[in-house]
Amino acid sequence: MSSSESESSQQGRHREAGHKSLLQSDALYQYMLETSVYPREPECMKELREITAKHPWNIMTMSADEGQFLNMLLKLINAKNTMEIGVYTGYSLLATALALPDDGKILAMDINRENYELGLPVIEKAGVAHKIDFREGPALQPFLLEKKQGSFDFVFVDADKDNYLNYHKRLLELVKVGGVIAYDNTLWNGSVVAPPDAPLPKYVRYYRDFVLHLNRALAADPRIEICQLPVGDGVTLCRRIK
Ligand code: SAM
Ligand code: CA
Repeated sequence: MSSSESESSQQGRHREAGHKSLLQSDALYQYMLETSVYPREPECMKELREITAKHPWNIMTMSADEGQFLNMLLKLINAKNTMEIGVYTGYSLLATALALPDDGKILAMDINRENYELGLPVIEKAGVAHKIDFREGPALQPFLLEKKQGSFDFVFVDADKDNYLNYHKRLLELVKVGGVIAYDNTLWNGSVVAPPDAPLPKYVRYYRDFVLHLNRALAADPRIEICQLPVGDGVTLCRRIK
């Protein structure tokens, strides 16, 4: 697929799903992508984005602007030891792997190895696969209990939204004080403000209450400072303070 085809398919998905960006217009979002995102997107990330665009579940992948944000954030906080829950084809994982130092580590978990393997050749070619420890299975795996408390600088959570609060409980022990947990999709397709009878797609409606509950719980949690950003589908950064 040519770059303009891929970009217009991204635009198409944006119009259709409305959840790749919460900006007020498609034109504004497109301006941002074309001016500041695509020209600076590493070749390997572009390649992975284009491979993912052909996959039937491509709606799950992170948008290019969020990938750029994640990469910048990790560099700003000097992250070295990170975790990702929900990998899919690895676009956010590659954004992370490129940001970490050569001896950085990412514990990446997903119930589906097949999709991870779709993107793996690109990750390998980019020379960052050695930073990744991929584990297939549900994210709250027993081996996590063996992980040293406070050993992670950063965790990116982008999987089953109905489990986010269970993850939160465990992750607050695993991330160091001063470290960051980022929860993705916390504005959930804008549905967090939809009237109760709004005609929402079934999966959006199903997870909406979990996202609403999560947002309230994070806002009330004294162990973290939070910042919710309208990047992608909404991402909430939680900095552990105790
Ligand atoms: N972070 C990816 C990106 O930005 O390209 C997208 C992840 S996708 C939205 C969600 C992923 O979570 C899917 O690949 C799915 O298989 C995985 N998933 C769902 N439930 C899970 C669970 N309990 N544990 C681990 N992964 C899970
Ligand atoms: Ca996401």
